[in-house]
Amino acid sequence: MLSREDILAWLAEKDASRLETLYRQADQVRRGNVGDQVHLGGLIEISNYCRRHCLYCGLRLDRKDLPRCRLERQELLQCVSQAVQRGYGTVVLQSGEDLGLEAPWVADLVEYIKANTPLAVTLSLGERSPQELRLWRQAGADRYLLRFETSSLRLYEQIHPSVPGQPSDRIALLGQLREMGYQVGSGMMIGIPGQTCADLADDILLLEKLELDMIGVGPYLPHPQTPLGRQFNLYRPPGQVPNTQEMTCKAIALARLACPWANIPSTTALASLGPGGGRESGLRCGANVIMPNLTPPAYRALYEIYPNKTSTYGSTDSGASLRQMIQSLGRSVGTSRGNSQRPQTPVDMDQ
Ligand code: SAH
Repeated sequence: MLSREDILAWLAEKDASRLETLYRQADQVRRGNVGDQVHLGGLIEISNYCRRHCLYCGLRLDRKDLPRCRLERQELLQCVSQAVQRGYGTVVLQSGEDLGLEAPWVADLVEYIKANTPLAVTLSLGERSPQELRLWRQAGADRYLLRFETSSLRLYEQIHPSVPGQPSDRIALLGQLREMGYQVGSGMMIGIPGQTCADLADDILLLEKLELDMIGVGPYLPHPQTPLGRQFNLYRPPGQVPNTQEMTCKAIALARLACPWANIPSTTALASLGPGGGRESGLRCGANVIMPNLTPPAYRALYEIYPNKTSTYGSTDSGASLRQMIQSLGRSVGTSRGNSQRPQTPVDMDQ
């Protein structure tokens, strides 16, 4: 178990060779617990409508210049077929918090995918009601991703305003998802304006406490059409966590040490930081999952949570270059659904 002091010391560490020892240790823990396979999950961005006002996100409701769109069922199922053809273990259906994605429509879709493909279904549709989440679970959805974004309540309330009358409590929702029998994923952004290393240390400890099946960690990337993005270069408070590749890799490595069994993707946001092999660097310091983007390019451009989202290894590639990259690291491509290895407690679905 990691102590808060150890975590803080690693977060402050600047010496490259010492950091190499952290990455190597995380890589060994990854190999010992989840093996050398890199699991692939096809990301499908199904709607960019959103009812929320998150200060970091380019999909926020107030963003009037962004054309909004929702994938039709048939378009979506074509992306799902692509995931099957490429041998992926799961599809991740992600969207803004879009109540226009009606619960029975999503449930039908999940049921169809589960009945007609070998894929695990992962949902990442934001904060929906327990009734809706239960309906989707009963329709066969296997996993739900909902990042807590930051464990600091002060910062969370600043950057993720509640819908009036509905206080946002993602930690409570994660507990409910677990009780419903989902494999549960969460995580945070690295370098949110106002985030300190003490906050980030608490994030890592929270990952451990939540005993997550999946952990998504990526750098915060400023979007110029959002309140946080607009002030990004103007205000750097003392103790600010940088949104760099190095800090993200430290967080991935510490997340692996905190949660040896978790599935941890090397995220698109990490790859989007620019040249320098973002995806590879994540895989070297504890990550064991990659989520290529299967969204049709015209829709993908509109799912603009941050600018310049990289599309490497996505629907425009054949898939061969991704396999090559994985093999060049001495790893192999996942051959199963990549289910969580965390010991599961059986759940009665009728409860
Ligand atoms: N509506 C869903 C999915 C949101 S997009 C939800 O709220 O859960 C998935 C993740 O992208 C978010 O959880 C957030 O961590 C990340 N994200 C959003 N805006 C970002 C930005 N500007 N930079 C980096 N990551 C961002």
